[in-house]
Amino acid sequence: MPLVGTKEMFKKAYEGKYAIGAFNVNNMEIVQGITEAAGELQSPIILQCSAGARKYAKHQYLVHLVKAALEVSDIPIALHLDHGPDFETCKSCIDGGFTSVMIDGSSHPFKENIELTKKVVEYAHAHGVVVEGELGQLAGIEDDVNVSAENASYTQPEEVQEFVEKTGVDSLAIAIGTSHGAFKFKPEQCTRNADGVLVPPELRFDILAEIEKKIPQFPIVLHGASSVVPKYVKIINDNGGKLADAVGIPEDQLRKAATSAVCKINIDSDLRLAMTAGIREHFCEHPEHFDPRQYITVGRSYIKDVVAHKIKNVLGSDNRAAEVMALINK
Ligand SMILES: [Zn+2]
Repeated sequence: MPLVGTKEMFKKAYEGKYAIGAFNVNNMEIVQGITEAAGELQSPIILQCSAGARKYAKHQYLVHLVKAALEVSDIPIALHLDHGPDFETCKSCIDGGFTSVMIDGSSHPFKENIELTKKVVEYAHAHGVVVEGELGQLAGIEDDVNVSAENASYTQPEEVQEFVEKTGVDSLAIAIGTSHGAFKFKPEQCTRNADGVLVPPELRFDILAEIEKKIPQFPIVLHGASSVVPKYVKIINDNGGKLADAVGIPEDQLRKAATSAVCKINIDSDLRLAMTAGIREHFCEHPEHFDPRQYITVGRSYIKDVVAHKIKNVLGSDNRAAEVMALINK
């Protein structure tokens, strides 16, 4: 099966009140863990690479790893550039086999963001590739994207219609309180529940609702949407790690978002935590091991577990592969 775009995925996700998981990939085992889980659950997925991933693994390796996954699975997979910083990076991914790119012009003033995004859209659409834009700025750190809490800003609903119309983008990433990384909120921004676990402030569903009103049926994207699964943070800390006060977005809020116009939910930190938990645990239990296959196998299986959990309990995209394929083949 060839790589697919995201148009059909988003249409079905919108109608069916679920979301497509966009999982960041950096190496073979991450690709395998994600696609094995998605294959077993028959979920459409987006595999995405950041500029940092392309620097780490090289573009060609990533594209061929994803193409290998296509050969051994039967689900629709899109290959997406996460946080394209400029036109050149987007062009290189469009020319190099990606089916979807994000141009992140959110750090630019509104008009410049429109100009840059429009330029990418024109090139991408001429090559059959879809484009995600961004309005508003998330706090946190993800690879080369680093925004302080002071500089973070919610998406302004009054800007979205003009942005979508003038740029021609296919989907829009918005800021409603999610954040990049494993330390999404400072402890003082949170409350603690009965178990002493930090609970972050609720996502701004009111802003999301206003945006939906301005651009009905338009696919919305949530970045920084890992829940920082406490189970993996605990395994890491119990096995020599030091992740104090790691906190993410509660899964019930993400589930609620998935039933709205949010059609794509990005998950990266939870994959990093799962793999690190598996490897740390294995090293502590088997200090005599030195074959990478032994410990990376555990990391890969934890990735598979966390992706399966997300598909079933957060995204709601299990058993949706067939309806997306049917629409693509129509
Ligand atoms: Zn992001």
